[in-house]
Amino acid sequence: MMSKFSGFLPVMILVTVAVFISGCATSNVNPNETSALFERMPSKGVIVNNVRAYEDGDELVIYGKVKRTSNNCCDTTRGHVDIAVVAPDGPILDIVSVLYTPRDIPRVRSRTSRFTARLPYTLPEDITLRITYHENPKVAALSTNVRDKFLCEQNMTLLD
Ligand SMILES: [Zn+2]
Repeated sequence: MMSKFSGFLPVMILVTVAVFISGCATSNVNPNETSALFERMPSKGVIVNNVRAYEDGDELVIYGKVKRTSNNCCDTTRGHVDIAVVAPDGPILDIVSVLYTPRDIPRVRSRTSRFTARLPYTLPEDITLRITYHENPKVAALSTNVRDKFLCEQNMTLLD
């Protein structure tokens, strides 16, 4: 009886440890995920949500959602997402803007649209990705392809 029990216990410990380790591994994010920090700037009517970034080869992919705020039920959205890549000591290394899809953020159910920005580089350590929603019909009319990056002349991430 005793020998049966003492054989069983180490196996239980082993199984527990194995489950714990594999649990940790799977709950860890994608190994290509960047160490970037995210700073979302406030915006009216629509907020940027669930932003993530990962490295795909020598490209940086930033993706996320834009969501209607609770008091914005029905306005037609004509905005885009402004992004700034900010070095640890403050200087802005790059700015880029992208459209989201669907262009008019759904008014019911998810109330969200998605965006993806592909940048032609990977990030050094401790970079901040500053990001915000920018309502701007003029820019929306210029750029129609959701895959295209463009330069927003009034990039909202540059404002204090
Ligand atoms: Zn903008």
